[in-house]
Amino acid sequence: MRRGKQELAAGTLTPSIWGYKKLQAAAIVAPRLSLDDLYLAVLLGSKQLGVRLRPGLKAAENFEAESAVEQAIRSGEAETDAGLLDLLLALRSESPPQALLDDMVTTVQDPFLGLEALALASIAERGNRAAALAKLSPIPAIAETPETKLELVRAWLRCWRSSHGFWLDKMPDSWWHTNVQGKKGKGKFDAMDVVLTNKAARKIFNDSWTPALLTTFTTDMGGEWRLKGSELSLTFDGDWVRCPSCKSVHRPVTTIPHCLDCGSCEVSPLDPSRDPVFLARKGYYRNPVMAAHSGRSDRSRCID
Ligand SMILES: [Zn+2]
Repeated sequence: MRRGKQELAAGTLTPSIWGYKKLQAAAIVAPRLSLDDLYLAVLLGSKQLGVRLRPGLKAAENFEAESAVEQAIRSGEAETDAGLLDLLLALRSESPPQALLDDMVTTVQDPFLGLEALALASIAERGNRAAALAKLSPIPAIAETPETKLELVRAWLRCWRSSHGFWLDKMPDSWWHTNVQGKKGKGKFDAMDVVLTNKAARKIFNDSWTPALLTTFTTDMGGEWRLKGSELSLTFDGDWVRCPSCKSVHRPVTTIPHCLDCGSCEVSPLDPSRDPVFLARKGYYRNPVMAAHSGRSDRSRCID
């Protein structure tokens, strides 16, 4: 179900990002942090920023986790790494109301107002997976270093977003094959043929990388693969590019000069906080997120 643009922007976007960044900044939390922790992120952000969340509750649902987070903030527990880790572990047994879960997932992957479309964040591997992914077979001229391998892995993760989505631990069973789809067969995405135009590179990717990536990032659901949110995280730092042909905004793969979505060679670097065309289109949704962060850093400076 598509939600109104303003409703989405005013809802979970700013608190989700604020909370997720706070969790990611805690050294002992960061390696464990995954999209399964979006519930904690949005609650932390909403309490800290004074954004009132009022999700509709279905029968048997509750919103008691909000009180637990509020208590952790009041006691100061949410200001220590160990306290945040305790909170993260406690919240993993809590199920978010479905209405809020729906908003959180939309916030991450909406093609027009999601994190990547707004050049705020992109989906990446969970923090402690990078070393294992660096061992993937080198793809000559494309992915020979740990950094370029990760960029290509993340390009593959993008392929899931548009038509399949990711599964979170607390999603209701009824969302399988409705809100979230599986990938059938050998897990090959036609979209990766646009990313990898070289036949030899494609062969290494299909024969060697795809099986390894499916093992790392998906659950075998008996004939189809389901992307695991527990293996995914968000990355906020890094470059962006924009394609004037298809309007795509995405992270570049350093060794691939063309648009990852349409193959156009005209992609150009994008500074999302300064580009006037981008800000005219997306600033309304993006600016409150950036303002929340600058406000926080101002306060931190005062306390220090
Ligand atoms: Zn394009």
